[in-house]
Amino acid sequence: MRVPEIMKRKMCFSFEVFPPKADKPLEPLLETLERLYLFNPDFISCTYGAGGTNAGRNIEICRAIKQSKKTIPVTHYTCIGNSREKIRAEMQNYLALGIDHILALRGDFPKGWQGTRGDFNYANELVEFISINFPGFTIAAAGNPEKHFEAPSFESDIAHLRMKQDAGAEFIMTQLCYDVEQYKWWVDKIRKAGVTIPVDVGVMPVLQKEPTIRMAVSNGSSIPRDLAELIARYGDRPEDFKKAGKEYTVRLIHEFISAGIDGLHIYTLNKWQDVTDILLAAGIKKPLAEQPNGKTVQ
Ligand code: FAD
Repeated sequence: MRVPEIMKRKMCFSFEVFPPKADKPLEPLLETLERLYLFNPDFISCTYGAGGTNAGRNIEICRAIKQSKKTIPVTHYTCIGNSREKIRAEMQNYLALGIDHILALRGDFPKGWQGTRGDFNYANELVEFISINFPGFTIAAAGNPEKHFEAPSFESDIAHLRMKQDAGAEFIMTQLCYDVEQYKWWVDKIRKAGVTIPVDVGVMPVLQKEPTIRMAVSNGSSIPRDLAELIARYGDRPEDFKKAGKEYTVRLIHEFISAGIDGLHIYTLNKWQDVTDILLAAGIKKPLAEQPNGKTVQ
């Protein structure tokens, strides 16, 4: 079943992983994937380095997910540095491998870049190109509950989101957002603007002080007062920070679910043990029981 159809039936549940650097072994991520499959995710998405850096590893990971037959692989893909012809070849390759779900992005500019240095300037153009030339793909687009940091206003950012829907995107995957009230406000606003496709909410676990701050700041996401207090209180004590951060993440998941979301997407940071702790504490997903010999039973 395709992801938008799953989202019509129930709250979709998914993970995001990122490929290791080219000189690092693949095995730890393959082990992580095995651990994540235990939660029966509806899909697992894999990031794509803007500019094609590490594109080979992205394909390897998506192919491994596909071959596992455990869930749907969703590849991320960016316009940055990619010509029409290169995109065409890579789309054919994905489809040939059975990878038919894609998050179509513009991408963040690598340091020193002004534009995409490719044939498309914005994600809506990539969505349209894939939709017209490769109708076999189910396409997702990125959404920003707190506004994309480059956009001058919510109105313009939401108008651009609408363009991605009109070009063929069938669901939205959101940027990290720790402010559930802001998320609800944004959903109301996009619905009024005619964006009708389901929204998959991205949750970034709070595990370490510096990355939590860095990722929020670099994505233009706010740090709400309760998270700021957690950072102030436990910032110098990594173990206590992680414990409190996991509890914070569990509360965040519950708040999002209470808000009535179409999908929950956990940015795993490739940390299966922390994600497992969070999901078990949240009580929303039980993994298949794992025996000491590593085999699983239902
Ligand atoms: P766009 O939709 O093109 O928007 C970019 C900016 O331009 C916005 O301010 C928008 O309002 C404006 N805009 C859009 N269309 C137009 C138009 N036609 N005319 C004028 N202005 C326009 N990045 C990676 O490099 N690799 C990844 O794997 C990756 N995964 C991600 C996963 C998720 C769930 C999310 C939310 C983001 C991810 N990103 C990734 C980051 C993403 O690439 C950045 O947020 C990037 O800055 C914008 O991408 P976009 O697809 O939203 O761009």
